[in-house]
Parts: sequence; structure tokens; C-alpha cells
Amino acid sequence: MSAIVTRTGRLVLYALALTGGALTAHLTAPGAINAVARATDVRAAASEPLVVGRRDSTAPLPELELPTPNIVAGQPDTFGRAFKGGKIIGGGTQHRLILFSFDDGPDRRHTPLLLDRLDAEGIRGVFFLTAARLAGRNLMERQQIAIAREIAARGHTIASHTLDHEQLPLLDDAAVRAQIVGAERVFERVFGRRPWLMRPPGGARSARVDRLIAERGYTTILWNLGAGDFQVRSAQEVVETWKKVFERREEQFGERGGIILLHDTHAWSVDAFQMIVAELWRRNCELLVQGDELYDIVNDPALFFEPRADAPATAFARPATLPPELLTQRQAAVRREAERRCVEM
Ligand SMILES: [Zn+2]
Repeated sequence: MSAIVTRTGRLVLYALALTGGALTAHLTAPGAINAVARATDVRAAASEPLVVGRRDSTAPLPELELPTPNIVAGQPDTFGRAFKGGKIIGGGTQHRLILFSFDDGPDRRHTPLLLDRLDAEGIRGVFFLTAARLAGRNLMERQQIAIAREIAARGHTIASHTLDHEQLPLLDDAAVRAQIVGAERVFERVFGRRPWLMRPPGGARSARVDRLIAERGYTTILWNLGAGDFQVRSAQEVVETWKKVFERREEQFGERGGIILLHDTHAWSVDAFQMIVAELWRRNCELLVQGDELYDIVNDPALFFEPRADAPATAFARPATLPPELLTQRQAAVRREAERRCVEM
């Protein structure tokens, strides 16, 4: 997940990835030294004009056909235009709302299968794409451009995970801007437009980084339900970690749902996605019998979004809440689906 390879750095980032939201990066000295050396390289690179791809890959891409995703807000919004300029979304909620998010892709080995499985479940998620993977410099990146466009065509939300997946707090202002704007240029070439949602790599933030991200109109979305999938090699381990994190969030913060983070750069994460969905439906069958609130998998961050208005760039959105009528309406729909599925289970 991270370019920083020191042992201490990794441990810190692992903790960040599991807890998501509330933390900012605290890099210990050895990691920081390494990373500052990298940041210097990035600064040097950032002063060069940004060239994306080779000359032969700059031909215009065919017109992108966009779907009408069935989102909570009721409008097609593949690039999250409705989510411009919001408070930072930490992902917590007392409701059993679940939003899936996938970072670091697209990946030609694993993303296509994930897309098929999402379709099979009728789930839309948010894909935080690392833009450099779409630079079109070689066959792999050109295939990844096609996959990225497929993600959009199938109704998922496209979001930025910066250009090169650098830890933003370790870069100076110019280099942070180069990461944000450089990604926009890639997205504009691939999709004909830019996204409005951003997840800083590793969830690493600072007040300064928050301001620089907000400056470009983005809403930062973090997560509260990490699964440590970049640390393990089996879907079973991912699911076990996810269950533990899920339990802990409920015990400590009263959160019964939120934003799940997986990485579509691993085969085991794609399998874990399917197992987590199955587990949510298994739980729904129990909750249905108990007459309790069911897990409701939402298609976009609308319920987590809160406009920032005059609040500072570091302000966090409140935990997602559902107006009573909407809760009743959505729960009725999930119950009908559960009644159908639970008979089959
Ligand atoms: Zn990442």
C-alpha cells in the first residue's frame, strides 16, 4: 500500500489503514527520513512539465458512455460532482449502512473479476484510482485505461487517489498540488472530466494537506472499516480482520456500519469482497428474524456527505444519519430482498 518501506513506517500505516478516519499520519523518524528523501525526488520531478504517456498514447480516446447509476441522491453522478466541497467523511454511522470502497486500482489482473462480482450482487462502490496507472505509457496502462472506463460505465463512482500514491504530508505544497492536479489531468484525458472525491494515500493527512485538497474542491473520504488486505495473502484473513475491526468500532464508537476499504490490486481482496457480502446477508437473515435494522449496502457516499460551507478544511462530517422516512423506505426494500435471499440460504 505504501511506498515507505521502513518497518516502523509500515506499522504506523497499518494502524492508520485499519482505523481510517480520525487519525493523521505520525511518521517515526526513520520512516520520515526515507520519505523526505523521496519527497525531494518528487519535488524535482514536479518542477518538470507533467507529461502523461508517450506521444503515441495522446490520441483522443473515444467518447465515454456513462450510465445512470441508482444512487441515493437519485441522479447519475459517476464523478461525484454532487459531493464537491464537503467536510471530511470519516465513514462512521450508527446505522447499518455499508459503502464499499476500493483503492489503488485499476488492476488488469483483479479489477475485471471484481466488477463482475459487484454486478452479480447489484452493488455500486467508489473506486479511488491511482492516476499514474492510467498514464497510457505501455500496454498494461492502456489496458488499465479500458478497465477504468469500464468501472465508470458500470455505474461505480470514480474518485482520485492522487497521481503516484505518495504520502502527501511528507511533500511540500508544490509537490502535493502536483499530485492532485497531475491526477486530474490524467482523469480528464481518460474520462473527459475530473472527479470530486479524494482519498489521500494511506489516509495520511495533515491540516495543510486538508487545505490543499479542499482548495481544488475535493471532498476527502476516509474509511472506518479497514480489513488489512494489503498485509495478508488470503481472503479468510481479510474477512477475519474486517470482522474484528467491525466489532471494535461498534464497541468503542457505537458504529454499526460505515465505509469498507479493500484494494482491488489483490486476488484475495476480490474474494474477500464476496465473502463480506455473504456475511452481511447471513447476518441480515438473523436480523430479519429478530425484527432488527438490516445491513443496507448503499451505492454512493450521499448519506455520509455534508457540505463544508464556511467550516475549515479540517472539519469532519457528522456520522451518517438517515431521516426516519428514508430509513423506513430503505429498510422495507432491504427486508424484501432479505426475505427472498434468506429462503434460498
Ligand atoms: Zn492506497
